[in-house]
Amino acid sequence: MLKLEGVCAGYGGLSILHELSLEVGEGEIVALVGANGAGKTTTLRTVCGVLKPTEGTIEFRGERINGSRTSALVAAGLVQVPEDRSLFGPLTVAENLTMGAWTRPGHTARKVLDEVYTLFPMLAERRKQIAETLSGGQQQMLAIGRALMAQPRLLMLDEPSTGLSPKLTWAVLDAVRAVRDQGIAVLLVEQNAAQALAIADRAYVMENGTTVLEGTGPELAGDERVKRAYLGLA
Ligand code: ATP
Repeated sequence: MLKLEGVCAGYGGLSILHELSLEVGEGEIVALVGANGAGKTTTLRTVCGVLKPTEGTIEFRGERINGSRTSALVAAGLVQVPEDRSLFGPLTVAENLTMGAWTRPGHTARKVLDEVYTLFPMLAERRKQIAETLSGGQQQMLAIGRALMAQPRLLMLDEPSTGLSPKLTWAVLDAVRAVRDQGIAVLLVEQNAAQALAIADRAYVMENGTTVLEGTGPELAGDERVKRAYLGLA
């Protein structure tokens, strides 16, 4: 689905990603965990076309997408939910969702809207509520719902637990699992390693702009180095 090989990228002359390689397969949740500043957000920016790699290749569904325009990637099914959620605060839940379908014709948008409401009944119940009056967890759910309106094949999430209690984080991560169960692959960037590893099919640990460990969620959650560095366990 998504494959990065030897990717280098950065900001101006400042290189941040060094020979980064990772893969996301069909229908799997892959978590990318690591400390502040490890380069997780930079990885997502590079995949979604905001930054252009200086070396290496990025393939999405077998096509090289290095430096492709973000709008073309969204139309091809690669959609990101940004960390700040970027909702239209004064608009309703339904209006925010409809905006997410800008790449699709009207009749498709109506069908997908029904699917999103079935997946997240909370959004259906609150369809007329103004987005900025939702709780943090509900806003995150809405941001995910809006991304689903573009009918992604791969959804990329940047720190969906930001500002949420552990309980609300679980609710959001349950929603991420529901997305995966619809056959949509997920690349989940999280500083909250314990919860991310608990739902990930596979995961990578990132340090200094590259991946240093890879395994299934349970493998990494049980790894002594991961426990010490990221899970706060001795
Ligand atoms: P965080 O959880 O703090 O967002 P992260 O793993 O996502 O961490 P990045 O945001 O990718 O890390 O940052 C990696 C490095 O790139 C950091 O040293 C950061 O200071 C630098 N960086 C990020 N954005 C920019 C920018 N726009 N210009 C210059 N340097 C940047």
